[in-house]
Amino acid sequence: MTHPTAPRDGNCLAGPLSEILAVEPTAAWWRCPHCARSGPMAQLQVYGPEPGLTARCPSCAHIALRLVKEHDHLWLTLGSGTGAFRFRTA
Ligand SMILES: [Zn+2]
Repeated sequence: MTHPTAPRDGNCLAGPLSEILAVEPTAAWWRCPHCARSGPMAQLQVYGPEPGLTARCPSCAHIALRLVKEHDHLWLTLGSGTGAFRFRTA
């Protein structure tokens, strides 16, 4: 029997993440933890140049996410204090 608070390995994230990674990401809703502005990801202001992109809140410039393309990999940073994205799954 597994204890209810025992950690599980990362494989248990496959199902929930496959729901949000299969949808149009720019439609995801974001709420800025700094100024409380909310809106779709498409309204964020993105600074480059590539391969590193930084998306910021259009009201207060707080960083929402960082995206870096490296060869055949994509790094996505959603650090602490970057707010939360809400994805529609249905
Ligand atoms: Zn903001």
